[in-house]
Amino acid sequence: MDIILFGIQGSGKGTQGKLLKEYYNMSYFETGAQLRKLASEDSDLGHEVKKIIEAGHLVPNEIVMKIVQNFLSKVSEGKSIIFDGIPRNMIQAETFAKLLDDNNRKYKAVILELSKEEALKRLTQRRVCSKCKEVYPASYQKETCEKCGGKLITRTDDNTESIKVRLDAFFTETIPVINMFESKNKLIHINASGTIKEVDKNLKEILSPILKQQ
Ligand SMILES: [Zn+2]
Repeated sequence: MDIILFGIQGSGKGTQGKLLKEYYNMSYFETGAQLRKLASEDSDLGHEVKKIIEAGHLVPNEIVMKIVQNFLSKVSEGKSIIFDGIPRNMIQAETFAKLLDDNNRKYKAVILELSKEEALKRLTQRRVCSKCKEVYPASYQKETCEKCGGKLITRTDDNTESIKVRLDAFFTETIPVINMFESKNKLIHINASGTIKEVDKNLKEILSPILKQQ
């Protein structure tokens, strides 16, 4: 059983996804990372993606789906996949769901639910290490980085207005996708307002019986 993970920025989606990956020994598909990896490869698709990224263009849906198909064809037999950050909008959603069906992948979508207000609060209060770029939540009290001792700063793009624009994009582009999975009876709701540990525990309680089905 594959998991398509959704969550507004600040919901801890990436963190939770990686915890699930480790715990259940799953494959992990994150669009940005796959694109960067592909761009470094000496293949026709790799060269095409490299050109698009270097030009600063958005990678067309058709190519994103080629990358998904490529990933699906290489994943080990019986191994489940976590999809992080895809499908991002309705243009991707239909082809993505069809691709999974065509490849006989069973899946559930999970939404890590967090209010816009809470997301905004988390995002504006978090800080980043000026040296190693490690990100620290508002709950971290010290002025210096735990890993390298660097000074913690507020990210320059973390001003309220630009964050609001990014959060709005989630509501206009991704919420319709989530609703689509709900209408297919494939959506699991998880409350993401707790600590990383609490959300992780909640997720595993709900996903364990589902992931065991295969
Ligand atoms: Zn650091």
